[in-house]
Amino acid sequence: MTEGAFDVGVATAWLQGFADRVAEEKDWLTELDAAIGDADHGINMARGMTAVATELPDQPADLAALFKRTGMKLVSSVGGASGPLYGTFFLRMGAAAGDTTSLDGPGLAAALRAGCDGIKARGKAELGEKTMLDAMLPALDALDEALGAGQSPGEAMKTAAEAAATGREATIPMLATKGRASYLGERSIGHLDPGAASTTLLFETLAAALVSDGT
Ligand code: ADP
Ligand code: MG
Repeated sequence: MTEGAFDVGVATAWLQGFADRVAEEKDWLTELDAAIGDADHGINMARGMTAVATELPDQPADLAALFKRTGMKLVSSVGGASGPLYGTFFLRMGAAAGDTTSLDGPGLAAALRAGCDGIKARGKAELGEKTMLDAMLPALDALDEALGAGQSPGEAMKTAAEAAATGREATIPMLATKGRASYLGERSIGHLDPGAASTTLLFETLAAALVSDGT
């Protein structure tokens, strides 16, 4: 992979920023899950990301080590579906990044895509099933397009985060066909998916970490 803007420092700032936003939005994420799930998404994400953040001062040598540690921590500390799904995302991202200390824009996009493919494989969901993928897939498509159009990694990630937010809102009229919300059938319609909400925070904090690093 080509060396670039996304290095261990930016990745660490991203994970810290995501942990902070998840903690701030814990009640909102849990309220969303109360409507169509079991009212624990904020609690799950806050517990997992607090555990991840505790280890961040101990800087690993490369991106693979950082994301492997992050993924394993999420899998082991979160009981709900979101722990293994976000855990798989980071484990696959780490494997795709390899033992490099930085990635350029396309390298970062490829690593994020590998993480997303891991979520798809683990959860067996596709676009339009009212899950976190409905924020993540549009974000990744927008990222590829923005990088292809010559935007910097930070600008392109802001574009991706906006697409994630649009995708999040698009989950409201969807019928849930995967996960706990699918038990509600038609009654899942009319509510925003909690995982799509946390995934939007994931992209917003990644954009913020890249932009504040000046990329
Ligand atoms: P649980 O549903 O076990 O209580 P959480 O409440 O933490 O776990 O997470 C729920 C979120 O997980 C949902 O809002 C949805 O976005 C996501 N999710 C659930 N099942 C799947 C799946 N099969 N594929 C992708 N995402 C899923
Ligand atoms: Mg839940």
